[in-house]
Amino acid sequence: MTTDAPLVELLPNVKAFIGEKRKMLIDGKWVTAKSGEFFEVVNPATGEVIAHAPSGGKADVDAAVAAAKRAFESGPWGKITPAERGKIIWRIGDLIMKYQEELAQLEALDNGKPISVARAADVVLAAELFQYMAGWCTKLDGRVLNLSVPYTPGVEYHAYTRREPVGVVAQIIPWNFPLLMAAWKLGPALASGCTVVMKLAEETPLSGLKLAEIMQEAGVPDGAVNIITGFGETCGAPLAAHPDVAKVAFTGSTEVGKLIARAASNDLKKVTLELGGKSPNIILNDADLNIAIPSAANAIFFNHGQCCCAGSRLFIQEGVYDEVVAGIAEIARNMKVGPGLDPTTEMGPLVSQVQFDRVSGFLKSGIDQGASFAAGGARVGDKGYFVAPTVITNVREDMKVYQEEIFGPVVTATRFKDADDELLRMANDTIYGLGGGVYTRDISKAHKIAARIRTGTVWINTYNIFDASMPFGGFKQSGWGREMGVEVFNNYLETKSVCVGLG
Ligand code: NAP
Ligand code: MG
Repeated sequence: MTTDAPLVELLPNVKAFIGEKRKMLIDGKWVTAKSGEFFEVVNPATGEVIAHAPSGGKADVDAAVAAAKRAFESGPWGKITPAERGKIIWRIGDLIMKYQEELAQLEALDNGKPISVARAADVVLAAELFQYMAGWCTKLDGRVLNLSVPYTPGVEYHAYTRREPVGVVAQIIPWNFPLLMAAWKLGPALASGCTVVMKLAEETPLSGLKLAEIMQEAGVPDGAVNIITGFGETCGAPLAAHPDVAKVAFTGSTEVGKLIARAASNDLKKVTLELGGKSPNIILNDADLNIAIPSAANAIFFNHGQCCCAGSRLFIQEGVYDEVVAGIAEIARNMKVGPGLDPTTEMGPLVSQVQFDRVSGFLKSGIDQGASFAAGGARVGDKGYFVAPTVITNVREDMKVYQEEIFGPVVTATRFKDADDELLRMANDTIYGLGGGVYTRDISKAHKIAARIRTGTVWINTYNIFDASMPFGGFKQSGWGREMGVEVFNNYLETKSVCVGLG
């Protein structure tokens, strides 16, 4: 089903923002790339160019890292009290809400996501993330240790740990949640006292550049956060390999994640990676289908399937298989597909021609390998990057659509007989381990299955619930480390032991 409501009228500020060539933020100044080059920013609903962003390269990376290094070593960020740091980070959250509509419009325009979702989810979650992290600034303390040194009898010691910022952090983010991924990374790095150079995704630089303005307005000192734009190979790669970067935090494809890990191995930078997924979502015969069917549909169709934790492999017990497939297929057929700026849109376009071609290739491989389609299977309309929400049946384990991350609104449905070891073998039979779900009314079965799904997050009778307090990240090739929660501080803090001989 396609939408036809009038598009949201762009705010004058948004028109002005996209109307002029954007600059990036280095050392508190708005600058163009040293090469003078720009790249085009495209509206995925139409394929039209809507803005221009600087094409940053190695020289810009060097300038940004130098600024972050100066800000770390001698700037005010490390010297102000944790409470003052917390207030600035809290203010970022307040200002995100002040500019909520502006940010939501930029997100819908640039990424293609429904403006209703951008307003209610992306922007609000980004604000809450900063405010959750603001609270941690005053609580990142060490411990007093009780030593029992056996080889210095009679001597007493006072020993304690300090938690210190790791230094200059490089952060590289993807295009699927441009504002929220920036928040997930910037919030804890700043709360830890690190300074940052962030490279935005080339497909979606707009909301991150607006966030950079917000950070200045909130009082983040010059150089503490530098936000640059450019391409992966020419801007991301030199950033990830820069000798003055102490730590790299990356979200994106597993393939690029491996490149980052290799580049970082030269000087053993700390690395955290949040990568791809092929998450199993299990519906048992005794599930409440009024919950399970819409939730499983949301698990795959939310953000057009462009979620690293999308519930893309559905396992349905045979007693409810037909009803569940029919229910999700009906939701898919009735979803309103249209431009992000249409307020009635439930699913927007894929982010780019590249992703459109990639997902279309997977659909073709499904057809070639003998899969059936209970819904979707093709593009919607003839302009923009719209793909119909798709439910694939007759799935075999050797099919590409079952094996590989599609990163589009495409779910495979597999029937199983018993909730036994074989089910868990199938669920876990992937190189990934990011998310997973199980639906059942039997709480003991639910917890037993949750414990055996080898992923960083398992949802029970729900899916795609994210919260700043809940750690998120991957087992296996879905990544290293966790974002959010208190766990995220392991990424940005070093522990130092201090030992004092008291005689
Ligand atoms: P990607 O290539 O991994 O891009 C993610 C970020 O890394 C972007 O900022 C990108 O720059 C940058 N990058 C690319 N190559 C780099 C390099 N050699 N060194 C340093 N940085 C580099 O992901 P994508 O091309 O956007 O999407 C491809 C696939 O990745 C998707 O189909 C999906 O499977 C997966 N993906 C996963 C997530 C997730 O949340 N886990 C998010 C997005 C995509 P550019 O802006 O120039 O690309
Ligand atoms: Mg775009």
